[in-house]
Amino acid sequence: MQKRQAPPIRFADVTLGYDGHPAVHHLRGEIASGSMTAVVGPNGSGKSTLIKGIVGLLQPIDGHIDIEGLDRSQISYLPQQANIDRSFPISVVEMVSLGLWPRRGMFGSVTAADKEQVADAIATVGLTGFEARTLDTLSGGQLQRVLFARVLVQDSPLILLDEPFTAIDTSTANHLMDLIERWHDENRTVVAVLHDLDLARERFPQTLLMAREPIAWGASKEVLTPANLLRLRSMSESWDDTAPWCERAAG
Ligand code: ADP
Ligand code: MG
Repeated sequence: MQKRQAPPIRFADVTLGYDGHPAVHHLRGEIASGSMTAVVGPNGSGKSTLIKGIVGLLQPIDGHIDIEGLDRSQISYLPQQANIDRSFPISVVEMVSLGLWPRRGMFGSVTAADKEQVADAIATVGLTGFEARTLDTLSGGQLQRVLFARVLVQDSPLILLDEPFTAIDTSTANHLMDLIERWHDENRTVVAVLHDLDLARERFPQTLLMAREPIAWGASKEVLTPANLLRLRSMSESWDDTAPWCERAAG
């Protein structure tokens, strides 16, 4: 199925932010090829910012993120649902077919095999019969299934998911979690922003605990300890959104 594995993602003293205000400070480390990582932290801790940095939507202010030899178009990225424009007049089958773009180009001809792959992906997420429905008629859980079907079609070695389970029903969450595990079994690299600590602990081998800088990073069971979570809370209480650039690092 999948042709090649994603290279490791290397963070070389990366600082990411907006308009001179840091959102992620001095991140160093590596997400291993084929690993499955939960990114956990309170609201505003820089989780989405980090994902956007990996995707290349945000350039680091300092340092760099290396994903050697992987074209950014080969990354599957699922933004937070709140950021998806649902009024865009597009059907389920059209949305899932967008996953073909990196291979076919915008005007490339879609083959019978492509159509079959799209139909298979829609079936896998349990949405057969919904092909012609427009996105604005779907529930949050159904929309998330559509977006997962698009990821299936993309067939990427690196998959980034920003809060894939927020505001969706439990049965959809369970179904999509199984798909994520399948991607992991296929040796793809998976990074998912999560709010559910139990889910991170039980189903994700690795966790990166964020509070604008990494608090802990490694095996989930060693990272998600009461001591680290307490530290996380005390750090997030001291955030100052108006702080100048890298004040904490300097002081
Ligand atoms: P999380 O995903 O962990 O909730 P974010 O990465 O979205 O956190 O945000 C981290 C910080 O960056 C917050 O202080 C947030 O207000 C700020 N931020 C996020 N997006 C923008 C933006 N587009 N412009 C300015 N500041 C932003
Ligand atoms: Mg976020």
